[in-house]
Amino acid sequence: MNIAFIGIGNMGGPMAINLQKAGHEVQAFDLSAAACATVREAGVAVASSAVEAASKADVVVSMLPASAHVEALYLGKDGQVGLLDILPAGALIIDCSTIAAASAQKVGAAAQAKGYDFIDAPVSGGTAGAAAGTLTFMVGGSEQALGRARPLLEKMGANIFHAGDIGAGQTAKICNNMLLGILMIGTSEAMALGLANGLDPKALAEIMRRSSGGNWALEKYNPVPGVMDGTPAGRGYTGGFGTDLMLKDLGLALENAMQVRASTPLGAMARSLYAAHSLSGKGGMDFSSIIQMLQKA
Ligand code: NAD
Repeated sequence: MNIAFIGIGNMGGPMAINLQKAGHEVQAFDLSAAACATVREAGVAVASSAVEAASKADVVVSMLPASAHVEALYLGKDGQVGLLDILPAGALIIDCSTIAAASAQKVGAAAQAKGYDFIDAPVSGGTAGAAAGTLTFMVGGSEQALGRARPLLEKMGANIFHAGDIGAGQTAKICNNMLLGILMIGTSEAMALGLANGLDPKALAEIMRRSSGGNWALEKYNPVPGVMDGTPAGRGYTGGFGTDLMLKDLGLALENAMQVRASTPLGAMARSLYAAHSLSGKGGMDFSSIIQMLQKA
């Protein structure tokens, strides 16, 4: 199968490599030369534009930062052609980016009007899950479109959930990430309190992991350097999930909460804390660096 993969950053890069390893013909594209070089080293072909990558594609997978990037890629912007104008007939579009449900519905409706299948398929599992091919996909779209996508999603993930119609995957994703953002702050607060009292961070992390405070951050993503191998904390908070991306997701959750008149007080507080962290110049660092805000410098 010919696959165009657009957006090969921290998440998209390893996902594209897994599709290539599974025997598909992948043509990748990213605006970043560094991102292109990384997948090229792993044997993935890199096109000179998104249009070139997609012009012969059976399937397009996109993994871009936010709604505006996804809308511009498919619908076009400022005179630049959108992929919906050039894709081969009957192509399948799998957008894995975390974006507003309304954007997914806008792009999905435009795609369907041109005879393409579309699913929103945001993911959870972090960069380690992307590399290991164990991501969780939260899918919005028809059973038929998901049926076409499933064999590819299985090469990149271990869990595939059908959340509902187009946009429902994004709604599930912002609920999950609002909880993750809150959990990371709570975990950071508890770790910082223990450290301020002179506790050994590894011992404290293990006690809480196996006690009633146990959660995903303690299982897989401890924010304190040296507690776990392979986490962003251990490599200067690089190569993970950026603070600004978490800030975007909490903004999406709050916008949605206002639309449906839901009460999300901790989500609102978490968004403010990540915003302050970003303003202090840490927007590009992994979101677990929020612990630095809660510790003595
Ligand atoms: P990233 O910033 O590492 O990668 C995004 C890539 O998109 C960059 O390399 C950028 O150059 C590229 N890009 C931007 N505009 C482009 C365009 N018009 N054409 C081609 N390439 C373009 O971000 P990431 O961490 O890989 O996250 C991607 C998406 O996945 C985001 O929506 C994020 O919220 C979501 N996500 C991330 C994680 C994580 O742990 N990093 C986990 C789950 C979901």
